[in-house]
Amino acid sequence: MKVYINGKFFPENEAKISVFDHGLLYGDGVFEGIRTYNGRVFMLEEHVDRFFRSAQAICLKIPMTKTELIQAIVKTCKINNTMNGYVRLVGTRGVGTLGLNPYLCKKPQIIIIAADISIYPRKMYDEGMAIVTVGTVRNLPEAVNPQIKSLNYLNNILAKIEAINAGVPEALMLNSQGYVAEATGDNIFAVKGQCLKTPPTHAGILEGITRNVVMKLAREMGCEVREEMMTRYDLYTADEVFLTGTAAEVIGVVKIDNRQIGDGRPGKITRELMKRFKEYAYNNGYPIR
Ligand code: PMP
Repeated sequence: MKVYINGKFFPENEAKISVFDHGLLYGDGVFEGIRTYNGRVFMLEEHVDRFFRSAQAICLKIPMTKTELIQAIVKTCKINNTMNGYVRLVGTRGVGTLGLNPYLCKKPQIIIIAADISIYPRKMYDEGMAIVTVGTVRNLPEAVNPQIKSLNYLNNILAKIEAINAGVPEALMLNSQGYVAEATGDNIFAVKGQCLKTPPTHAGILEGITRNVVMKLAREMGCEVREEMMTRYDLYTADEVFLTGTAAEVIGVVKIDNRQIGDGRPGKITRELMKRFKEYAYNNGYPIR
């Protein structure tokens, strides 16, 4: 594997950054996870736009244009022959002192890693997954806004630990007011009849790119899609619940807090969206040439 760092490619074991990088010392940086399908980078511009928005929110100046970054991502995929894989884009604050001051860090580091994708087992897509509500509340939007895809993922990691310790792969995180926010690395939807509901961004969530694609596909299926505050009541009483994310795509949730959701299997709308999403992903994207 060849890793991109600031315009150059390094073999995996030589791809290194400084221990004084504030990305390491403080989680001061931003990132994106991107998929390639069938020789194309899926939703590349949307990911690059979100990367720049995250950077803007933390006053991190990305030392290249969006077009240059797009070209660098495509080139990294090409060099690594990542035709059906996963790309991790990272922007760190760069080397600084041991103090917090980000303005003393002179050079942001841009890292692109093109790798294989590891997803949940096939069986979980067929049968659905179980999740639990965790005590770790999602970051407050007025503190570190979850719309910033920052390198400081401890909020999500603490929630993930709770989920794994409870014997399930994912956590349902609520916001500080007790409304449904999202999972640790995925957005959440509830289906009731032909209507889909998902929390609005002001609930304190990452505005998922998969979420937005799925909302569009669901509307094309004739479903009504609403961004609305939800409580766990809405999930417990839903016909179907599913998660969306770049890595997971669309995956049904059949148990929450040990309660069966719907008939205990991924529902009709979930399955149709899984299928349509795959088709859409395989047929759209920025060609790797
Ligand atoms: N929420 C969180 C906290 C995430 O980390 C992710 C994955 N990046 C998502 C939601 C899903 O977003 P996307 O569909 O853009 O991958």
